[in-house]
Amino acid sequence: MSAEMTKPLEAFTKSVSGSSIEESAPHAFWYGLSELVVSRLADNWEKTRQHYRSEARASYFSAEFLMGRALLNNLVNLGMVDEAAEALAQYGLNLTDVLEEEPDAALGNGGLGRLAACFLDSTATLNLPVTGFGILYRYGLFKQTFENGFQGEEPDAWMENGYPFVVRREAEGRQVKFADLVVNAVPYDMPITGYNTQNVNTLRLWKAEPLEEFDYDAFNSQRFTDAIVERERVNDLCRVLYPNDSTYEGKVLRVRQQYFFVSASLQELVDRYIEAHGDDLTGFGDYNTIQLNDTHPVLGIPELMRLLLDEHGMSWDDAWKVVQKTFAYTNHTVLAEALEQWEVTIFQQIFPRIYEICAEIDRRFRAELAEAGYDQGKIEYMAPIHGGRVHMAWIACYASFSINGVAQIHSDILVRDTLHDWHDIWPEKFNNKTNGVTPRRWLNNCNHRLAALLTEVMGDDSWVSDLDKLATIEDKGNEDIYRRLLEIKRENKAQFSRWIKRRNDIDVPVDAMYDSMIKRLHEYKRQLLNALYILDLYYRLKDDLAAGGERAEAAKAVTPRVFIFGAKAAPGYKRAKAIIKLINEIARLVNADPEMKGLLTVVFVPNYNVSPAENIIPASDVSEQISTAGKEASGTGNMKFMMNGALTLGTMDGATVEIVDAVGEENAYIFGAREEELPELKRSYNPREKYETVPGLKRVLDAMVDGTLSDDDATGMFHDLLASLLDGTSWEEPDVYYVLGDFESYRETRDRMAEDYKDELEWARKCWINICRSGRFSSDRTIAEYAQDIWGVEPRPIAG
Ligand SMILES: *Cc1c(COP(=O)(O)O)cnc(C)c1O
Repeated sequence: MSAEMTKPLEAFTKSVSGSSIEESAPHAFWYGLSELVVSRLADNWEKTRQHYRSEARASYFSAEFLMGRALLNNLVNLGMVDEAAEALAQYGLNLTDVLEEEPDAALGNGGLGRLAACFLDSTATLNLPVTGFGILYRYGLFKQTFENGFQGEEPDAWMENGYPFVVRREAEGRQVKFADLVVNAVPYDMPITGYNTQNVNTLRLWKAEPLEEFDYDAFNSQRFTDAIVERERVNDLCRVLYPNDSTYEGKVLRVRQQYFFVSASLQELVDRYIEAHGDDLTGFGDYNTIQLNDTHPVLGIPELMRLLLDEHGMSWDDAWKVVQKTFAYTNHTVLAEALEQWEVTIFQQIFPRIYEICAEIDRRFRAELAEAGYDQGKIEYMAPIHGGRVHMAWIACYASFSINGVAQIHSDILVRDTLHDWHDIWPEKFNNKTNGVTPRRWLNNCNHRLAALLTEVMGDDSWVSDLDKLATIEDKGNEDIYRRLLEIKRENKAQFSRWIKRRNDIDVPVDAMYDSMIKRLHEYKRQLLNALYILDLYYRLKDDLAAGGERAEAAKAVTPRVFIFGAKAAPGYKRAKAIIKLINEIARLVNADPEMKGLLTVVFVPNYNVSPAENIIPASDVSEQISTAGKEASGTGNMKFMMNGALTLGTMDGATVEIVDAVGEENAYIFGAREEELPELKRSYNPREKYETVPGLKRVLDAMVDGTLSDDDATGMFHDLLASLLDGTSWEEPDVYYVLGDFESYRETRDRMAEDYKDELEWARKCWINICRSGRFSSDRTIAEYAQDIWGVEPRPIAG
């Protein structure tokens, strides 16, 4: 039956393993199967490239693409899953094990990079002429280990053993010039297949290489080390993804990376435009929109100016018009420390011409505003260059025709606060595009049991590429369906439990409420609030059990809970690392207590990434979205959980506001201070008063420093953590993120949620409503809005 596949699979596998098919390891089968997949889509990929050539198109510029694994997604899209499983079975292998051989392409930090990946998936499914441009990092986001509860970091050499899902296109290379360095930029293309479509889109990742493979003259002379040093300087460019969400280091190298990939990408776009439309570039912006994913690719603005002015002889005014038609900017955060600014000396040193262009943009901006009557103070603040720094967000706001936030509340805050002055001048630029996630990866592929149920109830699988359709089956919810939902969740928990046992040798009970918080570790996300609750719950249960009688009986009857964490801390972010250690200490305390066995379990899944998320989310009952209101721009984890039938426990922040709008307050668990209340609350806020007066709070906070939980005396990190809550520092008020302020409300809501969980049919009914109303959080909806409102591109299917 699968003979058609067996032969080529054997051929590809043998060519990788270099041994007989019987001797080949599962890894070789993964590789062979992946090569077979790429060979199967090659024709449509080329066809798509040709098909998009001369029409209007959009380019998605992003320093991060958190793609995760590729094989399963492609097998599903090509309709090859059963065939592959049967072929592998002939060698005694099962598909799941072979899929586990694939490394995650972790070329991103978190939400922003994963958004870019979901967006590409949707552009392919919608047949939209969109290409992603980024960097082929040799090392993805560091691999996290735990050593005695502390985070350890190891390099993630994800393609060291080869990676079949990128194709090197040497002939399409470009040169990128810095004042002190010229490098080759070689594109590596990743095919992006869609669901139920023939189109294959492209993610183009640039790799930096030395101009000459090796300087043999230098090698043969005394200049051996010179040759090596020069090579390494070039290789440094793409060596690592900066593991930092909010602060920055290695500044010069980071600026180089950014310029490197935007310059190569723009050279290509300009060349392609000329091929199709001739060398008058005034129409470039009519055919090209470039979406800037945050400020990392904003150097594209002065670089396009340079190309138009210096290489194509355009006047400043004409070139600026082109630029203003081309760029659109997505803002991802309101945290001030994350708005990139670079010392002018860096620019002057590595690309003086780009600096000159930025200075001219700055001069004209100032003149334009002065002309319009704005006062000097405001002009100085908004100017692209001031205080000795180049402000990337300000360049983006000035040059772009569109500025968008990523959830309604976030877009509102941009208009009201962060970008208020810009909105005053150019209100027409501002718009909202609430994020979404791809229902292929985050529902259909990761939760096949639930997917099968939805397809059965609907009668077809049309929801996979039209998630709004789930709304049409909401009223089919009945006891039978709720029972099946519960059964599916239970099977997913059993699967998670086996997975974590194999992966990390951790034992997790299946019959419990799974409560998950998986996202980057950051103070504003408030993993600390979650941890304090768990410790408080532990003490409360211990007290009740010790009291005996009715109290002990009640304690034994509470809903059994599994608390799941997954989070990486930026290596230089000390407080985040202290929180990781604290959670691991709480886990140690709770898990080692025989009285808690089966009642409370705390699991910190090491090395959180896309693939772990695909295992955790389908098994979860509770989705923790507990950021300080106003701080989480959107969140996308919240959407993945919703689609998989987990109920949200959250603050009114980011896209959670819109989830609540979709499902109603009665089908979510909302707590804590609202964004609009916080300024007033904060005025009279005294965290010490909470410490003294909120029952239980003193006990858990004291446990951080009285020897109950130990940071191994190594650092005093728990003391610092506690001090940050109660005392603040010279540069920061105490408890900036209102952890103690929201604690009581959080505890009340979370306790109630655990109690509600006992009524399993009522719980399942809420899950069903969440699933059926998750349609608007498909990235297909988001991308359709970008395509229509910003990019002006239309579907261009290659077939039909
Ligand atoms: C979805 C996702 C994120 C974003 O999670 P948030 O909860 O929105 O911060 C981060 N990392 C990975 C691996 C993801 O899949």
